Amino acid sequence: MTYQKQRFEARIATEELIEKYFDPAVTLAKCRACRGFASTWSCPDFDFDPLDFWKGFSRFHLIVDRISNEGAASVAAAKDRLLAEKSLYDAEMLALEKERPGSCALAAQECAHCTKCARLAGKPCLHPEQMRYALESLGMLAVNLVKDQFGFDVLWSDGKSVPAYYLLVGGILE
Ligand code: SF4
Repeated sequence: MTYQKQRFEARIATEELIEKYFDPAVTLAKCRACRGFASTWSCPDFDFDPLDFWKGFSRFHLIVDRISNEGAASVAAAKDRLLAEKSLYDAEMLALEKERPGSCALAAQECAHCTKCARLAGKPCLHPEQMRYALESLGMLAVNLVKDQFGFDVLWSDGKSVPAYYLLVGGILE
């Protein structure tokens, strides 16, 4: 099936990110409302302060892939496409992290590496070399960030209709 994949990139000082977009009270409320809350080690709550995490880097290379849903016959088909693209995206972020000493990749949404996260069994992460946090899990208002940087919205399905596109939002902390 042919569909469009477009990439958008920006580089932003973490100081600016923190000032404009860091709002963990808002993101945590959203996370708590999610069905998958705390079901992977990439989700809050964490045993560290996300603000300290951000302050450990000077710049963020924001990388967004916009995946069109053209030709997706159902909500499930669009989700399958997104998950396949997420897998490629997250692998690419990890590869970029390896190329840039001292950097840290941020994944698009929660970790999906294992079929069932070890957190559900109260066990430590099985693949910390694969697991990376996402912008929102670390308290950043990703929707606002994307809109300000690139001028388009994050879209969701209402469970019945397929939006025009989905986004993969992450990048590299440098
Ligand atoms: S790598 Fe596996 S165990 Fe670790 S956070 Fe991801 S799903 Fe959970």
